[in-house]
Amino acid sequence: YPDLEGKRVIVSGGASGIGAGIVQGFVKQGCAVGFVDLSEDAGNSLCRSLDYAAHQPVFETCDVTDIPAYTATLEDMAAKLGGCDVLINNAGNDHRHTIESVTESSWDDSIAVNLKHQFFAAQSLVKTMRQNGGGSIINLGSISWHLGIPDLVVYQTAKAAIEGLTRSLARELGRDNIRVNAILPGNVETPRQKQWYSPEGEAEIVAAQCLNGRIQPSDIAAMALFLASQEARFCTGHNYWVDAGWR
Ligand code: NAD
Repeated sequence: YPDLEGKRVIVSGGASGIGAGIVQGFVKQGCAVGFVDLSEDAGNSLCRSLDYAAHQPVFETCDVTDIPAYTATLEDMAAKLGGCDVLINNAGNDHRHTIESVTESSWDDSIAVNLKHQFFAAQSLVKTMRQNGGGSIINLGSISWHLGIPDLVVYQTAKAAIEGLTRSLARELGRDNIRVNAILPGNVETPRQKQWYSPEGEAEIVAAQCLNGRIQPSDIAAMALFLASQEARFCTGHNYWVDAGWR
């Protein structure tokens, strides 16, 4: 995507898994990438592995659920990058609770990391996108709530709401040429998923997909690159499933 070269891209949760795949994908396109993550070690290690990049990534440690600290970090990062053309709201976690074991505080924590920061990140960066004449916001949803996987009630509630957030932002921001879309991954081979699934469990997932093989972070990054590029200039307000046909 030649038009992506030099674009300023900010990614949350960029130090591992899908986020790291997205950071690597945009760096390879010649973008100026900034990312935030809780994990300082993982973030620094990713930066070291990208030392060939034309634009060295900017990395800040930050908890995205601390909204004042996070929005201040985003504004600082956008200033360092000279603006922001693409925002990728990726940070999330799928801590599991049965219905009986959900507490008010576990509910609030899950909504904060899977839904709340995505809105406030968009709110804090639309000004710079408007000044640049447009932009692209990409939210990470999940196909899981369409399947109804057990013990994920709060996560799946938040991920369902990501689709409403995406549509609402797309409607309001379209007039400013800011496109907003969601990517809904199936089961992607990341460190997070490794903790939940045994090799037998992974084999069951592949058996439930139409296609063979495990989805990789780079497969999600490929969709993010397309949605950020001018090739997707009339794509907004929609959900793009990358799930190998998992049903
Ligand atoms: P991961 O755990 O491998 O990586 C998530 C990253 O986000 C980590 O580096 C983590 O440190 C960071 N992070 C988590 N909480 C944070 C916080 N409060 N502040 C800052 N950083 C924080 O997860 P992943 O599997 O790569 O998932 C990434 C996104 O994709 C999530 O939104 C997830 O819900 C979504 N998703 C993943 C899958 C999958 O199969 N892996 C499927 C559907 C959706």
